[in-house]
Amino acid sequence: MRLILGVEQQMIQEVARKIAKTHFEARAAEVDRLGKTPWDNIRMLAQNGLFGVNVPEMFGGSGGDMLSHVATIEEVAAACASTSVALSTQALTIAPFLIAGTNEQKKQYVTPLAKGEVLGSFGITEPGAGSDVASVTTTAKRYGDEYILNGQKVFITNAGDSEIYVFVTRTSQDRTNGITLFVVEKDSPGLRFGKKEDKMGIRGSTTREVFLEDVKVSKHNILGHEGEGFKILMNVFNETRPVVGAQAVGIAKGAFDYSVNYVKERKQFGKSIASFQMVQSMLADMKMQIEAARLLVYKAASMIDRNENNIAPYSSMAKCFASDVAMKVTIDAVQLLGGYGYIKDYPVERMMRDAKITQIYEGTNQIQRIIIGNHILKD
Ligand SMILES: Cc1cc2nc3c(=O)[nH]c(=O)nc-3n(C[C@H](O)[C@H](O)[C@H](O)COP(=O)(O)OP(=O)(O)OC[C@H]3O[C@@H](n4cnc5c(N)ncnc54)[C@H](O)[C@@H]3O)c2cc1C
Repeated sequence: MRLILGVEQQMIQEVARKIAKTHFEARAAEVDRLGKTPWDNIRMLAQNGLFGVNVPEMFGGSGGDMLSHVATIEEVAAACASTSVALSTQALTIAPFLIAGTNEQKKQYVTPLAKGEVLGSFGITEPGAGSDVASVTTTAKRYGDEYILNGQKVFITNAGDSEIYVFVTRTSQDRTNGITLFVVEKDSPGLRFGKKEDKMGIRGSTTREVFLEDVKVSKHNILGHEGEGFKILMNVFNETRPVVGAQAVGIAKGAFDYSVNYVKERKQFGKSIASFQMVQSMLADMKMQIEAARLLVYKAASMIDRNENNIAPYSSMAKCFASDVAMKVTIDAVQLLGGYGYIKDYPVERMMRDAKITQIYEGTNQIQRIIIGNHILKD
């Protein structure tokens, strides 16, 4: 199994690093302060083909692999976590099409998503259905060749900004076999966007409520078949949790790099604080955790690339470990900057707030631990 990047993977990573360092890093504080979608950054990601790194060329992507994809997300997240959420959410929206979509659906929807011409959203969460995805109550009722969708979704990333939506709905009372995925276009009558959330972190990423009020769609808008939604969703998470892991590694790396430069410059007791062993010990722990997290993300990504069995626990480990590392490393980065770490003029404060979401979305870290625990005990 390959756990280091090959030449092509390094090249695409380098493209992402250059753009992120040159264009996103300096704007990240402003993006956070304004709390608005960074459209300039999104356009730049699109121009450089970074929305479709691991999407087949015939559907608008670059035809690369998952390892390249996670390597690019890490670079973008290290500079601006909010911008990296545009990439990770696009990956989340594209995944069900690649897993279960027809060629027509892929051509119609994946192509503009992979080219970054439009944004996509995946609507799973509801007011009463968070960790327990199978308890969704948004209904899809069949009338001939059409379905009518009704319900409410919450916390939907890019809602209102996106043109293409995938919604998790209930087509029968069977807890898991009654779940069906539908693709819905933004201008569909009855699709309405509610409150925009005022968040702790990733403030440049829009998070909104969505209301589905008698939204009429064709039966051709089903992804996969009726009742297959839960199974598809679990496969989607297998592929997207390492992406969140990569985002977490990136946030941790951004905070770590800043801290290293800072401790070399900052003087107390007549010398650089980098000369204190307790500071070095913190840096050593941060570095070890980031390296270990990255390897776990690469392992899960490589398993996806090799289409291996039993990806779920490794995807969960990658997401859970990397996001716990991101939280710990960013807290330590704030500590290493002392009082300045607590001030918005320095980026580690923002990175600490941005890191928190990686422990929550795409399944909280308690849910990841349940998946890993079940895997350990299943035989
Ligand atoms: C910024 C942001 C962006 C998001 N983007 C999207 C999106 O694009 N699409 C989407 O569909 N959703 C999105 N979400 C929703 C996110 O995935 C959910 O918030 C998350 O899955 C948790 O669900 P919940 O908030 O309802 O928490 P709950 O499920 O109510 O959990 C509350 C607490 O209970 C714990 N818990 C729950 N069940 C168990 C259990 N069995 N054992 C142990 N502990 C348990 C949880 O771990 C958590 O600590 C987003 C959320 C945020 C904040």
